[in-house]
Amino acid sequence: MKIDQVSDSVYVVAGTNVNWALISSGSGVTLIDAGYPGDTADVLKSVREVGHRLEDLSAVLITHAHLDHIGAIPALVESVGMPVYTGGAEVPHARRDYLEQITPKDMIRQLSTARGRRWVAQTLRAVRGGMATTIPSAASVDDVVLPGGLTPIPTPGHTTGHTAYLLSAEGVLFSGDALVTGHPLSRRSGPQVLPAVFNHDEAQTLASARLLANQTARTIVPGHGPAIHQ
Ligand SMILES: [Zn+2]
Repeated sequence: MKIDQVSDSVYVVAGTNVNWALISSGSGVTLIDAGYPGDTADVLKSVREVGHRLEDLSAVLITHAHLDHIGAIPALVESVGMPVYTGGAEVPHARRDYLEQITPKDMIRQLSTARGRRWVAQTLRAVRGGMATTIPSAASVDDVVLPGGLTPIPTPGHTTGHTAYLLSAEGVLFSGDALVTGHPLSRRSGPQVLPAVFNHDEAQTLASARLLANQTARTIVPGHGPAIHQ
């Protein structure tokens, strides 16, 4: 785990090939995304390392309900009981009414390259015991005023209900997996979309990435790859 402060109140945490972020204010802290199930201990530790107690968690926002973004949430709901919000269209995905995630068959295909084999091994370790994770308490961002003046931005494609968040006061865009800056299966770094195998609808994915690239943000905090300042 590596923690970087990218603005007055925003900390980005790099876990197992995936990021989560903490927005810290005097009284509370908001978590955006929650790592793999195997990152759970690090997610909890990261809250403490930015100077908060777990009880200070006022909400968890999720960009989308893939397993590498929701891993620590069951533990947090059990110990803290804070609300969990995501885009209205992502709520049924978070509750696992359906699943829009890379298939086992597509994962097996990744074994044909060394890069892919390394990623599959790391992923299997990180999801162990947590494959059936669901977030039954997930609620829609449309029904609440989000903490810290965060604005949700619907960015469908990677998943149907994928939602980015903009912290306009600090110019920070949390782009989730709609716009990333790297991935173990990608050969390049810098702003990009994830390989198509991860995206539910490729045309929508590209349109959402363009929408985010046109936002006026000083800092982009992606789901994968380092945060970038522009
Ligand atoms: Zn994803």
